Amino acid sequence: MASQTMLKFTKIERDMPEKRAADERNRDFREIYADYARQKAEEQSARCSQCGVPYCQSHCPLHNNIPDWLRLTAEGRLQEAYEISQATNTFPEICGRICPQDRLCEGNCVIEQSGHGTVTIGSVEKYITDTAFEEGWVKPIAPHMERTESVGIIGAGPGGLAAADMLRRAGVQVTVYDRYDRGGGLMTYGIPGFKLEKDVVMQRMTQLEDGGVTFRLNCNVGEDISFEEIRETHDAVLIATGVYKSRELAAPGRNAGGIVRAIDYLTASNRKSFGDAVEAFDSGELDASGKRVVVIGGGDTAMDCVRTAIRQEAASVKCLYRRDRANMPGSQREVANAEEEGVEFLWLSAPKGFTGDLRVTDAGNPADVAGPVSGVMVEKMRLGAPDATGRQVPEVIEGSDYVEEADLVVMALGFEPEDIPTLWGTEELQVTRWGTIKADFQTHETNLPGVYAAGDIVRGASLVVWAIRDGREAAEAMLAQFAAQTSVAAE
Ligand code: FAD
Ligand code: SF4
Ligand code: SF4
Repeated sequence: MASQTMLKFTKIERDMPEKRAADERNRDFREIYADYARQKAEEQSARCSQCGVPYCQSHCPLHNNIPDWLRLTAEGRLQEAYEISQATNTFPEICGRICPQDRLCEGNCVIEQSGHGTVTIGSVEKYITDTAFEEGWVKPIAPHMERTESVGIIGAGPGGLAAADMLRRAGVQVTVYDRYDRGGGLMTYGIPGFKLEKDVVMQRMTQLEDGGVTFRLNCNVGEDISFEEIRETHDAVLIATGVYKSRELAAPGRNAGGIVRAIDYLTASNRKSFGDAVEAFDSGELDASGKRVVVIGGGDTAMDCVRTAIRQEAASVKCLYRRDRANMPGSQREVANAEEEGVEFLWLSAPKGFTGDLRVTDAGNPADVAGPVSGVMVEKMRLGAPDATGRQVPEVIEGSDYVEEADLVVMALGFEPEDIPTLWGTEELQVTRWGTIKADFQTHETNLPGVYAAGDIVRGASLVVWAIRDGREAAEAMLAQFAAQTSVAAE
């Protein structure tokens, strides 16, 4: 009986897979958590109380059938657990690694609220699919029949790939266009290997290629091929291009050398992990080795930058954030990992400008300087009254300025969408006032018939799991549309 196997949360404590020691893990880009041994995965799954109304499931963006795959894992029926897990999630091994579980499934596990630690849902999800790959249970994509319809997908991130997977399984002819030389989007070039090792993403790319998805890489839509050409080639198009425009800081000295954008810094580091030659890294520009590094920002991208700099053997790594620890947007788990690895946090500190060999222009404008940076002018803050959103507004403490010395400054202030209608010459494509593409929240179709949009380009900077959900839903809507057209043609 399930109840004999399950409900062990009062007897068995929550136990995450072992975390590698900070002074060992901070020297490489390998993931920091070890794998569960089978017995441990079974024990941890058995802690689940099999709630009749599982809040874990309702707070998972994919509504994964968590209680069922936990029970099957606890009973040693791993292959069945895998079948259920993959039915709702295209990339369970990736979500198990990088979802912010503390805000989603695990954060809503009821046994946490009864004073026992939450079930380790993410780690079990990762374990199930990693085992499925090892055991050969992950079947190739082999459609029962080929369909004549074709779909062009712009963007090989999780949103585009989730749609490609579902469409191809239904026999649709799928071509994915991406401006990068590898697929995976931010899973490949944004998120560092210590959170998500690159072969985990690449094995999915191989599965899709082997299953008949065509990839046109190094193909920048709007430059190498027009959007209109893609529309004319395919029966439907999915835009899943993500958000890549870095938020900027207009401050004196911003143009000094050694002040770089987080996306450039992380992409270079990830490329090095693949063994690529990266000129800007090899020249030292994007390499933190031996440098005093200051990262500006308090989100998860900033956490990835500081932990990357530690692994590149920076002389020191500091994170500058204008609010306090309790009010930062980044995950507390990542802050703790960063601190363990040697990062120093400068809370309630905001950048005011940059110092260095500032070659002031004729116009006398120090914002136009090009010499190397030597420091960040910092002003200390305190938290004032809450604004309309209820969040306390940081206020400057007058006379508190000082210079934080730095040889490399990484700006991690968030991302915005590029201006797609202008870049692609598709002024008729409707966007919101933030520049994200307007799409129906269920079908994901835009105002252009047959053109769908999914992931960050619709939501703004978000999460892999939401991009997967959008991609799957868009694919379902396209399949429904194709089916409707087929039945009309048959009448
Ligand atoms: P993307 O993954 O951005 O993929 C878009 C693809 O479109 C890219 O490959 C790009 O090259 C391509 N493209 C763009 N424009 C064009 C064009 N004109 N022509 C052709 N191709 C184009 N989320 C989590 O859930 N957990 C995390 O731990 C996490 N960490 C993150 C760390 C960093 C540093 C960053 C930046 C993001 C992180 N995220 C994380 C967020 C997550 O990566 C994104 O929400 C997710 O990747 C969005 O998926 P997407 O498919 O919409 O877009
Ligand atoms: Fe939790 Fe993410 Fe897995 Fe859903 S997909 S169960 S939120 S780890
Ligand atoms: Fe199990 Fe927790 Fe989900 Fe309840 S909320 S079904 S205890 S994982």
